Amino acid sequence: MTSNEIREKFLKFFEANEHTRVLSSSLLPDDPSVLLTTAGMQQFKPYFTGQANPIKDFDQKSTTSSQKCFRTSDIDEVGDERHLTFFEMLGNFSFGGYFKKEAIKYAHDFIKELGLEIDYVTIFGGDSDVPQDLDSEKYWLEFGIPKEKIKKMGREDNFWGPTGNEGPCGPTTEIYVKPSPDTEAIEIWNVVFNEFYCRPDKHLEKLSIPGIDTGMGLERLAAVVQKVPTVFDTDLFEPILEIIKSKESGTPSRDTNTVKAERIVADHIKGAAFLLADGIRPSNVTQGYILRRIIRRSIRYAKTLGLPADFYIDIIDGVVKIYGQFYINLTQQKKEILDEMQKEIDKFEKAVDRGIKKFEEFYSQKIFEDEASGAKYAFELYETYGFPFELTEELVKERGGKLNKNLFEDELSLHQEISRVGVEKKFGGHGLKLDTGELKAASEEELQKVTRLHTATHLLHAGLRKVLGDTIQQRGSDITSERLRFDFIFDRKLTDAEKMAAEKYVNDAVDADVEMIHKEMPFDEAIASEFLAFFRGKYPAIVSTYELPGWSKEVCGGPHVSRSGEVGKFKIIKDEASSAGVRRIRATIE
Ligand code: ATP
Ligand code: MG
Repeated sequence: MTSNEIREKFLKFFEANEHTRVLSSSLLPDDPSVLLTTAGMQQFKPYFTGQANPIKDFDQKSTTSSQKCFRTSDIDEVGDERHLTFFEMLGNFSFGGYFKKEAIKYAHDFIKELGLEIDYVTIFGGDSDVPQDLDSEKYWLEFGIPKEKIKKMGREDNFWGPTGNEGPCGPTTEIYVKPSPDTEAIEIWNVVFNEFYCRPDKHLEKLSIPGIDTGMGLERLAAVVQKVPTVFDTDLFEPILEIIKSKESGTPSRDTNTVKAERIVADHIKGAAFLLADGIRPSNVTQGYILRRIIRRSIRYAKTLGLPADFYIDIIDGVVKIYGQFYINLTQQKKEILDEMQKEIDKFEKAVDRGIKKFEEFYSQKIFEDEASGAKYAFELYETYGFPFELTEELVKERGGKLNKNLFEDELSLHQEISRVGVEKKFGGHGLKLDTGELKAASEEELQKVTRLHTATHLLHAGLRKVLGDTIQQRGSDITSERLRFDFIFDRKLTDAEKMAAEKYVNDAVDADVEMIHKEMPFDEAIASEFLAFFRGKYPAIVSTYELPGWSKEVCGGPHVSRSGEVGKFKIIKDEASSAGVRRIRATIE
């Protein structure tokens, strides 16, 4: 059975069982608090929380979809038997309709219909707060899964959520199937029972409208249906890998590194094609940064395989052949996808060429003969030319030397210290109590006002993204005790309705009076956790992040209020053009 047939069979199965088929949403989600779509349930969040009515929108209380997903958190796992950055998640969802028994029966029946055998299932085994999920055990037994194939697991593995401080959560049951008799079983399907509401004090209450949220990776399902050991051996990858192999030159042997590099190139170029088709463009911030990172990473691996410079063209051709029927925008946007890829490759080449020249210069000065200076200059190449550590390491290795990664990482954190001191210095100096470049205040009173306006700026930013779309990017921000000024990339005047909606978003967040959460974390982790990062210039290794859960997430140096309620009533006073393609909004608070 081909993957296209499997996808269709899944959707038909659930349609026949009173689920409404819903199209995949974009990889760019509606929800401003996340960067990319990572699960099938994301587009259905308002139905789980009761904010939206499923009967009104879908005629039924249950839906089914095949959702495009992208997980940066799995990027280092790509190349093993089951992890990808881009994948499709098949799902069935119930918003106050059917519950555990039916959900387990559907999963059991569908697996059976495909002629597969469940190797084992896992259920929640209980802990000091929540009793074990005896219902799930009972139903699995009822549907013929013997006791020894039902494994009881802890909270880490089989309890989902809440995402944040409070919210729906509940036990899960996972289904494991072996691709072939002599391979390990892999998790193919996760069935989540949204049974409780977790309060901020961690107390769990039974939800009045329980929900079902399931996710099954199409690629993993295809692997077990097609009886191949890894997702890369399925018809969703095999033709792409054939193209890559046919273009290799100079790979001495088919060792594990070669196989891994081929898989990474295949995964990343496919992911890039889908991100580009959904309108994302390479840049140094947010989604664009993720796209840039996977394209550049694929170029690096393509080099190790000896692929020609235009390697991506035939791969994207292969991707469109596989998916173009189901995801029409891939077919429609093919030319733009290819053009953008070429542009990004050219940019990267230029940066690398400059970096390599610099490297040669350092090398001839014998800088890499000493570990400490080697790490220092590897860091400089990283900072100034965007050279990944691995690339410098490779160049040094080729010449018989070696680099010390720990010392390089020390350099990274040292740099962070220096930039922090830089900010502190700015605070003193010229009579201002605060001057971060963006925020200026001369007295304690002004300081409080600009702090509130600063938080309002984050909310405005999130509100504009909600109203105008996720392509909205901050261009500049300037805050005095009188007003905030916010510039963003957008090419037309806002309508009154749009202005009001953005204003309302901010005031709703103020009314919600949520707590501001401030954390420091590595930049990559912040991006993976969907924090927006819009400042220009270089990123320090460790960044400071501010989150108003459910409303706004940004990488930012602060300062901010401790609860959104402190911001006060917010009003947009002016919307004007700042320069070509850039709008400027001025706003005040009471
Ligand atoms: P694993 O522990 O194997 O990484 P997970 O617990 O992260 O899986 P879920 O978040 O429960 O997976 O996602 C639901 C389903 O989506 C999984 O059962 C799997 O079939 C699929 N899936 C999740 N992550 C990936 C990935 N990186 N690549 C391919 N499929 C995935
Ligand atoms: Mg995972």
